[in-house]
Amino acid sequence: MVKAFASSADLEAKQQTLEILADGVYALTAEGDPNVGAVEGDDFLVCFEALATPAAARDWLAVLRQHTRKPVRYLVLSHYHAVRVLGASAFDADVIVAHDRTRALIAERGQQDWESEYGRMPRLFKEPASIPGLTWPTLTFSDSLTIDLGERGPLVLRHCGRGHTEGDLVAWLPRERILFAGDLVESQAALYTGDAFHRDWAGATLDRVAQLGAETLVGGRGAVARGAEAVEAAIAQTRDFLHVMITEVGAVQRAGGTLKQAFERVHTLLEPRYGRWPIFEHCLPFDVSRLWDELEGVERPRIWTAQRDREVWEQLQS
Ligand SMILES: [Zn+2]
Repeated sequence: MVKAFASSADLEAKQQTLEILADGVYALTAEGDPNVGAVEGDDFLVCFEALATPAAARDWLAVLRQHTRKPVRYLVLSHYHAVRVLGASAFDADVIVAHDRTRALIAERGQQDWESEYGRMPRLFKEPASIPGLTWPTLTFSDSLTIDLGERGPLVLRHCGRGHTEGDLVAWLPRERILFAGDLVESQAALYTGDAFHRDWAGATLDRVAQLGAETLVGGRGAVARGAEAVEAAIAQTRDFLHVMITEVGAVQRAGGTLKQAFERVHTLLEPRYGRWPIFEHCLPFDVSRLWDELEGVERPRIWTAQRDREVWEQLQS
């Protein structure tokens, strides 16, 4: 059976749901499409993630505007991936915040990532011509940055270590115990690890995320985890997915096997648990390919290009 490349055949619009997590705290989920969020300050808004295009972002802002008219002072980007950042211009934000490494990654590989993600997930790129160019953060940090929301207290942006990318950040509301985790945690959605640092992510990075003690968690994709137990389950699911990959790809590699064998082994083991979740088939070839490199000692992820995407897909999924 020939599997259509990545998510290129996934053309059916997803149902978007606005969830009010606390007074002035919003999340928009979409059945496994990238999640976005917003938090109200006294007289301004902080938006979290920008979607793939300004046209897609404008749809989200129209929903948000039914609840608040405050201007967007900060647009916070959890990491550099195109489907999270290229809609930024629609927000008219005073400040675009990201991690130092995110800015560097956009400079190094933002253009290739744009082309790669557009090929993999064309449906997310509503009116692609509305994208004015790469998104450049205007304020970056390395460890943490706190935004004073006024009455709602602080919003703490933190880098918990390398994980989904080199420069992930999470947004934490300590008073409400709400965490926007970006793609560091997925709740009932498959993990994309093609640009990841699997061992850091499964270890110290997720430890730091868990230590925050969130009671509500908005992951990169999938449903909002509500309650400490559901948050724990989402983090455990993320860790399990990574552990299975690390163990099995490592075993095949040590036994002198091939990348294709590693892919098939991981697929067989993860499919029963995660196969029905969004983008599982799409992600897995890229995930295993990067992990293979990582375990061979390739420190930083190789750059995905539209062409390399097709080659890896051809090799592993057909
Ligand atoms: Zn991502």
